[in-house]
Amino acid sequence: MTPANFDFHCHSTASDGLLPPGEVARRAAANGVDCWALTDHDTLGGLAEAATAAADCGLAFVPGVEISIEWRTTPIHIVGVGFDPAHPDLSGGLEALRLGRVERARRMGEALAAIGIPGVYEGALRYATNPDLISRAHFARYLVSIGIAKDVGGVFQYYLTPGKPGYVDHRWATLEEAVGWITAAGGVAVVAHPGRYKLSGGDMRRLLDDFKALGGQGIEVVSGSHSPDHVLHFARLARHYAFHASRGSDFHGPEESYVDLGRVAQLPLDLKPVWRLFR
Ligand code: AMP
Ligand code: MN
Ligand code: MN
Ligand code: MN
Repeated sequence: MTPANFDFHCHSTASDGLLPPGEVARRAAANGVDCWALTDHDTLGGLAEAATAAADCGLAFVPGVEISIEWRTTPIHIVGVGFDPAHPDLSGGLEALRLGRVERARRMGEALAAIGIPGVYEGALRYATNPDLISRAHFARYLVSIGIAKDVGGVFQYYLTPGKPGYVDHRWATLEEAVGWITAAGGVAVVAHPGRYKLSGGDMRRLLDDFKALGGQGIEVVSGSHSPDHVLHFARLARHYAFHASRGSDFHGPEESYVDLGRVAQLPLDLKPVWRLFR
């Protein structure tokens, strides 16, 4: 089967999405998605429910994850798709990443307390359905609830981005680790939403050189956070590096996302879609 509408990037309550995995599956199917990967941040915890729900609605399902890394001090996200979720390298690496998230969240709480906003770690935890996976998105939702900003975007802008008082530096996984875990588990590594990183053209090429040298095979050309110019630019880079191209909404929830599941542009027709690598 050739998917007409694949979406290989979205989130559930297993990380910082707003809908449980089964509801994300049903919403994807209702939106016309016919091949779907759930890619929660640093956890495989939603995949079993997602797979069952996808089967129930006739949706082809591919296991996925979005791994948080830093490359030369820049935070980057690497999506993995089509792996064996039981592989210990991947699950063990992700477990260590989640422990780091808890420690970072405590430091974020301390940093915000220092500017006169106490109790934010505990408050953010109440927004995390999976207490094992706390993200800045949970902090943002709690801070909106106590009136610190009018929406999540405002909280990020003034409190949770580099240079702002609630942002703390953190050691994530390395590019080598993330690509290694994914490929050890038989999956395909994909650079997520490359248009979102604040990298010069030269540094983007150095990132892609390193990624390719480590065995990375894919790049998200179409993303909910990409402009049409990003699509043209990253399609050119996909051709240059002979990467397979991925496509994903990065859907987090009905009120909080750039676009809904499956509602993104099609890939440029000459690119090799990433699902070809394992279907
Ligand atoms: P973390 O992985 O804990 O650093 O949190 C990153 C998550 O925060 C992303 O995956 C998004 O869900 C969310 N996020 C990051 N920047 C923004 C923004 N400007 N507006 C809304 N959500 C954001
Ligand atoms: Mn997120
Ligand atoms: Mn991301
Ligand atoms: Mn994402």
